Amino acid sequence: MKPVIALVGRPNVGKSTLFNRLTKTRDAIVADFAGLTRDRHYGNGKLGEHEYIVIDTGGFEPDAQSGIYKEMAKQTRQAVAEADVVIFVVDARAGVNAQDHDIAKYLRKLGKPALLTANKAEGMTEGVQLSEFFELGLGEVLAVSAAHGQGMRTLVDSALALL
Ligand code: GDP
Ligand code: MG
Repeated sequence: MKPVIALVGRPNVGKSTLFNRLTKTRDAIVADFAGLTRDRHYGNGKLGEHEYIVIDTGGFEPDAQSGIYKEMAKQTRQAVAEADVVIFVVDARAGVNAQDHDIAKYLRKLGKPALLTANKAEGMTEGVQLSEFFELGLGEVLAVSAAHGQGMRTLVDSALALL
């Protein structure tokens, strides 16, 4: 069975852009994996030696009844529960905010392997500009650029090394 990687993070950090980078096929795999929710945000990926499944989160329309935050939180919990490892995406340019802290707290409590990843980091000096993400209490932050395809191999290698 392929390892399952969940992409979680607040809206607009680049999860779906990353999902598209990490996957080659979509939508066809749900039936192959008992226990995964019927949902179109699953993809098959292969990078270097590794084959894996990726789950994107946060792509649903806001639900007027439950509210978007409740729905997002539900999706995030569901994706995290299904995953072997989590890629927690933050925005290297926007910096840390309260929603990042909420997600970090949830991941720390759960104790599931999680890789903190700062997206939109193209052209940035990692050590200096990303140090604020240490306050999330999840250790090292990996800099990537989903839009430019930078750091993808290292990202998958590092995430799967946590298994
Ligand atoms: P999501 O809400 O987390 O799924 O984020 P999206 O993938 O929809 O991306 C949100 C916005 O960030 C879009 O305008 C993307 O083009 C932009 N974006 C995504 N990845 C990068 C990146 O690596 N660098 C930059 N500069 N922008 C990015
Ligand atoms: Mg998205």
